Amino acid sequence: MKKEIKIALAGNPNSGKTSIFNNLTGSHQHVGNWPGVTVEKKEGYFFYNEYKISVVDLPGIYSLSASTIDEKIARDFLLDEKPDIVVCIVDSSNLERNFYLVTQLLEMKQNLIIDLNMIDIAEAKGLKIDENKLSLMLNFPVVKTIANKNKGTDILKKAIITAYQNKKISDFKIKYNKKIEEALKRVIPLLEENNVKEDKRWLALKLLEGDQHIIHRIKEKYKIHNIEDKILPEVTKIEKETGEDIITLIVDNRYGYIKGMLNEILQKSFKRKISWEVSDQIDRIIINRFLGIPIFLLIMYATFQLVFTVGGPVADLIDTFFSWLGTATGEILKNAGASDMLISFFVDGVIGGVGSVLVFLPNILLLFLVISFLEDTGYMARAAFVMDKLMHTLGLHGKSFIPMILGFGCNVPAIMATRTLESEKDRILTILVNPLISCSARLPIYVLFTSVFFTKHQGLVVFSLYLLGIVLAIVVARIFKNIFFKEEVAPLIMELPPYRIPQFKSVLIQMWLRAKVFLIKAGTIIFVTVVLIWFLGSLPPGVEYASEKSIIGKIGKIFAPIFKPAGFGLWQAAVALVFGILAKEVVVGTLGTLFGGEEGLSQILPHYFTPLSAYGFMVMSLIYIPCIATIAVIKRETNWKWTLLAIGYSLILGWIMAVLIYQIGNILN
Ligand code: GDP
Ligand code: MG
Repeated sequence: MKKEIKIALAGNPNSGKTSIFNNLTGSHQHVGNWPGVTVEKKEGYFFYNEYKISVVDLPGIYSLSASTIDEKIARDFLLDEKPDIVVCIVDSSNLERNFYLVTQLLEMKQNLIIDLNMIDIAEAKGLKIDENKLSLMLNFPVVKTIANKNKGTDILKKAIITAYQNKKISDFKIKYNKKIEEALKRVIPLLEENNVKEDKRWLALKLLEGDQHIIHRIKEKYKIHNIEDKILPEVTKIEKETGEDIITLIVDNRYGYIKGMLNEILQKSFKRKISWEVSDQIDRIIINRFLGIPIFLLIMYATFQLVFTVGGPVADLIDTFFSWLGTATGEILKNAGASDMLISFFVDGVIGGVGSVLVFLPNILLLFLVISFLEDTGYMARAAFVMDKLMHTLGLHGKSFIPMILGFGCNVPAIMATRTLESEKDRILTILVNPLISCSARLPIYVLFTSVFFTKHQGLVVFSLYLLGIVLAIVVARIFKNIFFKEEVAPLIMELPPYRIPQFKSVLIQMWLRAKVFLIKAGTIIFVTVVLIWFLGSLPPGVEYASEKSIIGKIGKIFAPIFKPAGFGLWQAAVALVFGILAKEVVVGTLGTLFGGEEGLSQILPHYFTPLSAYGFMVMSLIYIPCIATIAVIKRETNWKWTLLAIGYSLILGWIMAVLIYQIGNILN
């Protein structure tokens, strides 16, 4: 019989836990649910020497305060199942935030291994981490990994065995504010008297933090029913004497500790961080009560101006390339004796369709470049902070704004990011309105139509669409809140990292990681859809390609009348919208295929659209129905009821907005 070691993987969301889990367990995996909730639970095992090591992938968490479902699951698991070893996966490019969880696990006296993952990204950012020093300081093993490349897995496995054999009891302690330490000295004996088995210092801290689950646990398990009466006076005393909220005090202490530690282990090349004093100075302007929102809007506006003035000419070059490629391919095929059908397949279908999407790569790269740059400087955290106040006055949670910002990239990860929200109701609301945030897949549609109809004010018009998305998201959230969840919002602390001077290389890498997703999509979903559309446009046999008599023409004609009041009741637009549900980039690809290539689009579109109906069409594309991937993730994170609501309301809202724009616009003209 092999000896069994039970280990758990803990870490922030996106730190690479699942990748590490896969590296460790290979195909020995089992996916189920945590009892009573729909959160996924992954378990697996692997063998090493005479050991069988079973692994649990805990939900991604930022702390162990148990204020979210995920945190509660993770903490209960650690308390009740008592794994032999906890491997804490750390995103090394983001040490300050990730180490918060590390300190929490250490305070909880877990037998810890610290896995500095994403070392590649950290190094690209110019961070050099001294893992030996870290290990000596904390007295726990530290390993470095690059999980997506399966690097360091064997070292991690060895560390697990060694840690198991050593069975270390941690003497880790953060020194808190004097008043808190004094209170701890009174609370800990209280727990000792009652034979409490878990780590008493940790429990005492949690009691002072007012952690309801721990209070409950102490009452249930150890029958200390008057625990609150003993704790409350301590808390009041501390808050009175320091003039600060106790949670803030404790959290500040922990971050203080982390900062000190990072100073020690980060090697000197780390000069990019702007000092706190300077950061505070900058923040006086950037997050100023009056200037904050105008600055945010200005930055957004400047972003779109840049994306179009610089991106436009490059896009034109690519455009020329694809029309040349289409003509050249056509000729080569013709000379080779290919049938008209085959030529049309390659020229109209493949090159026309995929080309019309790829033309937008420069704009998308630029947008991602700016977003990565803003993230790296620390501005994105400020944007969330600035909007926090506005969100509160609207009855929404400020933290909901972070998933909203992520939505500019792609709504799928944005919706997943709502897991960090404490309240289930805020979570559902934020998920429901997230698809209104204009993701990068909508950009090609805007670029195409603005370049034809709004040449002079391209940036401004696109900016207005993004803004419309945000405004609608806020309004819809407000309405849904009134209908479905009437309840106050609890206040919340938001952290602001110091500003940094961004590193070119790191910004480029992040831009590339995002652009890759777009390219993969262009090569898969978009390619397949475009080919499908070509087939539907060529059938039944003998029909003129993409004419009204083709299958696709007939599909379009069914839906087209619906859009008549919005001014774009043409069947090609209807087809584009229908297929756009697969992925919004497909809208442009479809138009490209149906109108015979991207090159022709700019000449053909003015025959079918006016600037007004073009604007309505863009608004419709923005709002109507989330794409398939987003629908799937909404279903996974909520249930069918909310998913259907998300689909239904967006369809209706999109249509109403498009019609209103067209009708009102016509009256004003
Ligand atoms: P989880 O949310 O903690 O489970 O994280 P995942 O394992 O799903 O990883 C999130 C993303 O980071 C995935 O796209 C991984 O491929 C990527 N990733 C994981 N580890 C590394 C790493 O060491 N370096 C880099 N560059 N990417 C990584
Ligand atoms: Mg995961």
